[in-house]
Amino acid sequence: MRIPKLRLHWQILISLVLSALYGIFLTDYVYLVGWIGELFLKGLKMVIIPLILSSIISGVTSLGSGSSLGRLGIKTFTYYISTSLLAILTGLFLVNVIGPGKGMHITATGTGDLALQSLSLKEVILNIVPDNIFAAMGQGNMLPIIFFAIVAGFFITGISEQPKKLLSDFFNAMFELMMKITLFVIKFTPFGVFGLVAAEVAKNVDSLSRLAGNMGVYMLTVVLALVIHASISLPLIVRFFGKASPRKHARNMLTPLFTAFSTASSSATLPLTIDAVENKSGVSNKISSFTLPLGATINMDGTALYECVAAIFIANAYGIELTFMQQILIVFTALVTSIGAAGIPMAGLVMISVILSAVGLPMEGIGLILAVDLPLDMLRTTTNVWSDSCGAVVIAKSEGEQTNV
Ligand code: ASP
Repeated sequence: MRIPKLRLHWQILISLVLSALYGIFLTDYVYLVGWIGELFLKGLKMVIIPLILSSIISGVTSLGSGSSLGRLGIKTFTYYISTSLLAILTGLFLVNVIGPGKGMHITATGTGDLALQSLSLKEVILNIVPDNIFAAMGQGNMLPIIFFAIVAGFFITGISEQPKKLLSDFFNAMFELMMKITLFVIKFTPFGVFGLVAAEVAKNVDSLSRLAGNMGVYMLTVVLALVIHASISLPLIVRFFGKASPRKHARNMLTPLFTAFSTASSSATLPLTIDAVENKSGVSNKISSFTLPLGATINMDGTALYECVAAIFIANAYGIELTFMQQILIVFTALVTSIGAAGIPMAGLVMISVILSAVGLPMEGIGLILAVDLPLDMLRTTTNVWSDSCGAVVIAKSEGEQTNV
């Protein structure tokens, strides 16, 4: 299963090079391929709403189910939320200090909805609660959909046994189906990349060197923030909250971490993560079998951080000044969408469109960050898996377990 994913990465890499060449040398003929990128984006957008709805509902439902898992669920969720938030704030700080994309002055051709720009806190809160969930779905209004999914997931755990089982089975099945479709769409990424990147390069062919420089600064910002989170924040949490040795634990985790890096998929890495956390770091099967599969789908520190930096980079690149409220909105949507993102390559890319539409930034900005998504995906996935494994250790220790680290 891992080999095709590696191959997909190679395909994307080749497509990247070819599309850049196409954009540079066949600038006038870019209309011939630009639509392929649009089609690809449409394919991704097609699955977003049912995917978000089913993945959040089934995630929240599984956290709350089983009375003995209640306490563990709360601890696990607290760890997930706080580390993801910490990661986002690290990214937010660096992206504001470094300011990648500033001065690029790309002009948006599409119609990004900028209506939210002047929203007050009161309006944002009012905007989160839908008055008609189906209308929200029809308009692709993400925040109310996410809100509804969390509420529905939470209350499904409180209803009587038979309908509870029916509903959670239904949403699990729906999630599986949407994942299948997403994976199918992702197979076309090399073509999508070709269309999107060729169009982006052709549009900016006069300022390519400036573009390359700006992309470099953007990548550096993401990498720096990921490194700070993975090598300083998380080890400190393992040390102080878990009273364990982060260094020893990291050594035990090398195989899954390398696998995460090369597959760019937390889910594909999961069996190796469980193996290392249980057999090397000595966490019980009870804790690891609960926290790790859940973590592989809902705990994504690297993805959350990346989405925050990427969204603000896109705003900078298009010369859009973000208000304080919009930055808060980005933090919130980055947190929630990282929970909703699947542990597969480029899931963060699907989710970034949620943030863009929630904040009212131009969708075509995805074409910009898509060009350099590959290395960043590998690094953020490694951070995601590392955070899951640290969480398992911290929670095991808090339950009084004797581990090897
Ligand atoms: N590839 C990441 C993962 O599997 C998700 C993402 O695209 O950010 O953890």
